Amino acid sequence: MAARILDGTKMAAEIRAEVAAEVKAMAASGVRPGLAVVLAGHNPASEVYVRGKVKSCEEVGIYSEKHTPAESVTTAELLALVADLNQREEIDGILVQLPLPPQVDAKKVLLAVDPAKDVDGFHPMNVGYLSTQRLGLVPCTPAGVMEILKRSGIPVAGQEAVVVGRSDIVGKPVAMLLLNGNATVTVCHSKTRDLPGVCRRADILVAAIGRAGMITQDYVKPGATVIDVGMNRVSDRAEFDRLFAGNKKREEMFLSKSSTLAGDVHPEVAEVAGAITPVPGGVGPLTIAMLMANTVKAAKLRRGARLPEFSQAR
Ligand code: NDP
Repeated sequence: MAARILDGTKMAAEIRAEVAAEVKAMAASGVRPGLAVVLAGHNPASEVYVRGKVKSCEEVGIYSEKHTPAESVTTAELLALVADLNQREEIDGILVQLPLPPQVDAKKVLLAVDPAKDVDGFHPMNVGYLSTQRLGLVPCTPAGVMEILKRSGIPVAGQEAVVVGRSDIVGKPVAMLLLNGNATVTVCHSKTRDLPGVCRRADILVAAIGRAGMITQDYVKPGATVIDVGMNRVSDRAEFDRLFAGNKKREEMFLSKSSTLAGDVHPEVAEVAGAITPVPGGVGPLTIAMLMANTVKAAKLRRGARLPEFSQAR
């Protein structure tokens, strides 16, 4: 039986509507959440992401501003910008778009962001809050993964979860959120022995690898939930055929744009999984929606709100 498709675009729209309602309610008490995005240099992919983030802010009523230092910016200049944003009252969230130009000490810059305004959730303080189950800011993509599970009614507690990938921005925080949700979690990486065998144990399989279509049917237990975080641009014809042969719609897209976006999960997995996120239209749209949710959360936390509605996923 074909897997249930978990529609991230629809869920992201729901979250944006909820965030917009919260922003409206906050306006009644004179508060408008604000997000500052720092985009250094000219990375075309980053420019697209930042445009999406700013547009999303407009949609939900969050104040946003964009800072665009030149490609030649120094670490000291970025630190000065971050220090200024840290102390500005009307800015609740600071997002430093990665990657930064090579001459910049990115770790130093990220460490300088006030943890209370760290809407990406990358600051070690927030990483520590997550791992000790304290209230903090959770990275957007991992939080989005948990929202998909929650909104799809897929239980986490007691389930076997396998995460492939151990990056600081996706794999590790996803594993921590699943653990906090009482799953039994296994984290895999490039040195894992018998990866297909380990993955086949999973009731929930999360792929955050960065390799197009690596997860094939023999990695998946029939009926498992498969969450595909991967976003890989495929421009090679043979690779396209391995993944999408016979898919006319994809082929049209591939021919017109000379490339297409593929996840880490091979499309054939939809024939054995119980539920699966598509790429595009799965985890991707949730990332920006969770950034909006995080900015509102930061605005509330900074004003001492106790956030009774807080759940681990957020
Ligand atoms: P990283 O490159 O930082 O991490 C990849 C992880 O996958 C590493 O832990 C690596 O293992 C592991 N890995 C690589 N090859 C293999 C293999 N053959 N077998 C087992 N494990 C392997 O990537 P990110 O975590 O930043 O991103 C992962 C994917 O998610 C990418 O496609 C990225 O584009 C996408 N992404 C999507 C987002 C969204 O909004 N949807 C947001 C962020 C990322 P090791 O540690 O041993 O090297």
